[in-house]
Amino acid sequence: MTRYSVSLVNGDGIGPDLATSGRILLESISEYSGVKFDIVEVEAGDNALVKYSKALPDFSFDTIKKSDVCLKAPVGEHAADVILVLRRYFELYANIRPAKSYPNVKSLNPSVDLVVVRENTEDIYLGWEFPIGDEAVIGLRLTTAEASRKIALYAFEEALRRGGKKRVVCVHKSNVMRVGDTMFSRISKDIARQFPEVEFSESYVDACAMNLIRNPEKFDVILTTNLFGDILSDEAAQVVGGLGLAPAGNIGNKFAIFEPVHGAAFDIANKNIANPSSMFLSIKMMLEWLADRNKNNDSTKLIELGTKIENTLLSLLKENLKTIDVGGNLHTDEFTKKFITKLII
Ligand code: ATP
Repeated sequence: MTRYSVSLVNGDGIGPDLATSGRILLESISEYSGVKFDIVEVEAGDNALVKYSKALPDFSFDTIKKSDVCLKAPVGEHAADVILVLRRYFELYANIRPAKSYPNVKSLNPSVDLVVVRENTEDIYLGWEFPIGDEAVIGLRLTTAEASRKIALYAFEEALRRGGKKRVVCVHKSNVMRVGDTMFSRISKDIARQFPEVEFSESYVDACAMNLIRNPEKFDVILTTNLFGDILSDEAAQVVGGLGLAPAGNIGNKFAIFEPVHGAAFDIANKNIANPSSMFLSIKMMLEWLADRNKNNDSTKLIELGTKIENTLLSLLKENLKTIDVGGNLHTDEFTKKFITKLII
């Protein structure tokens, strides 16, 4: 039996509530299945900045480096000083954000099952902004062939892994960003040739944003750059009922961080009403990544546990046992309790 060490970032706003729910789920899995998780809590974010004058203190960074994988609750105002640093350090080049319709959750369409595969290291997120006096700013956007190739390859492999519609749409704005996005588009076309079994198309980002509302069920894998992926994945989450059900993974060759798509949601902090499903589904993604990475005896078990997490959510939703954001009346702790009870029986 393998033990996996999980660094758990507590975060800010609704972060600590979600971290608690995530911890309870991992502890239950450790108790009732053959897979064991050693959870190490990590302080990072606004609270850490106040306490230690650094949003990602060195000792927190070291704990994350020593772990097998990181599970991160949302961080508040200083999210960029935490997640952007971690994404760069661990070279987490792929940001994977699935969006799926679930029963009894208001969705624009009942058959949505898509994933946004977002380039995670470049674009405008490098923060290269330079003021020109007080009245103007120049911002630089980086696109490299290497990062474009890596993310395109990931998107096609993901289409095969999912085994669904096997459809990749490359989303860009090459009619305006004629050099960078034309390169991104050309590279995705080159990679597409290696995957004849995957249907490939391209879309400008504005058309894609519209079609996500008009025909969300037609999408399978959306391959795109950093900023467009950030925006389209929030839109996709809302199409299927809101951010409370939206998980994400930041994947690199050696390490990965799983986290809800949403931020710290200060408007609902300390009220015990956050939906922990985004955290539970992030844990499902984490188990699948561990299975894929450690192709050992545990792999099948980890995949089964991931499926069990999603089936537990499905079955609670079918019984209309839901948190407030998706039209139910359960609080975070109540929903977590029901989730764990259903998971282990
Ligand atoms: P950021 O700017 O970092 O994305 P934010 O706090 O502006 O963060 P989000 O946290 O992304 O916004 O979420 C937007 C809104 O969606 C929140 O204000 C909240 O009402 C709702 N929301 C987000 N996550 C959840 C959740 N897990 N459960 C319930 N409601 C949520």
